[in-house]
Amino acid sequence: MVRIKPINITFDVDYQHRMFIEPKNNKGWIEVICGSMFSGKTEELIRRVKRAKIANLKIRIFKPKMETRYDKVKVVSHDDNYLDSFPVDNAEEILRWIDDIEVIGIDEAQFFDQGLPAVVDKLANMGKRIIIAGLDMDYLGQPFGVMPDLMAMAEYVNKVHAICMHCGDVAQYSYRFTKSGGQVQLGERDKYEPRCRTCFTKGMASQQAGKRR
Ligand code: ZN
Repeated sequence: MVRIKPINITFDVDYQHRMFIEPKNNKGWIEVICGSMFSGKTEELIRRVKRAKIANLKIRIFKPKMETRYDKVKVVSHDDNYLDSFPVDNAEEILRWIDDIEVIGIDEAQFFDQGLPAVVDKLANMGKRIIIAGLDMDYLGQPFGVMPDLMAMAEYVNKVHAICMHCGDVAQYSYRFTKSGGQVQLGERDKYEPRCRTCFTKGMASQQAGKRR
């Protein structure tokens, strides 16, 4: 049984407010929402894109075609909130589907190819608002794909956290129960759990020693 400790999160109201001013005067920017699995990244992406939709802006969410955990077309969060999405084969393809789109969401950005940062940069320079969600670290705790580049380029970066399944602390790692399968292994609660630094490190050490913990 995990005991959940209260977490004190203070929001910089001004910063939050600024982020949600919709594009004007043809000025674009990049926002990144990163964190571990089960940290609420997609929920936050959906929330922001829905706000833009309410503001009557033209929106579209892209995701890599390989991401088929839940649904081929919808961007679905763990709490079943969803928006329709556009699956693409590669980052370059996004440029073909943006026409008059003003706010662009990109989900599971860590699975995109190396071309994504340049595409996103181009879109922001065209005056579009880009909201990107992705895993910042893989199951080994290493920076994931193009995420570090995107975080460096973005005007705004939010790191969201899950709760450690062992001690209830703030979790930033996606701990995987098995070492096999490489960096890309889709899965859910049966394969992964969020862990804090201490519990992640302990688990990795046990795996090294050949135990499953
Ligand atoms: Zn922990």
